[in-house]
Amino acid sequence: MTLPAGLCCLEESCECDFYQPQAKGRQFELELSKMGVGCFFTNKRTIIRGLIYRGLELKRRLTKMGFEVIEVYPYATKLILFGDQVPRRVASGSLSFHKEKLPELIPGLAPCVDMLDRPSCDAAFNAYTGYLYSKNGTDSLGDPSEGTLIVPKLPR
Ligand SMILES: [Zn+2]
Repeated sequence: MTLPAGLCCLEESCECDFYQPQAKGRQFELELSKMGVGCFFTNKRTIIRGLIYRGLELKRRLTKMGFEVIEVYPYATKLILFGDQVPRRVASGSLSFHKEKLPELIPGLAPCVDMLDRPSCDAAFNAYTGYLYSKNGTDSLGDPSEGTLIVPKLPR
């Protein structure tokens, strides 16, 4: 939902990183990497440019409508909440792990947990992170002047 400091876009043809050669990604992406949380880095070589532009546009529109917009990342949320218990995305038990854990966090989900697929589980973890944010139950990674990632409170 934000670009790395100093960039106006992710186009290789634009010289917006000419005077300030860009880092591998945004500050919080580098912090996630140090924590062992894999993610796609936001830079001009990204393979998810279209998704990033979509996120930027959604943020712009929602902000214009008066909403406070935060960036969250379900994989980071899950790893912070459940640590090494989180199965790899491709693991056979991955979906059942999510279906077991989500109703513990969001009791209202229990009656419809069988309808959840992976994207809706991720959406539910994102919504839960937003809920934690509203209750001061989160920390933020990264540089506020560039863009932050909201995550559940980190262990002290
Ligand atoms: Zn540019």
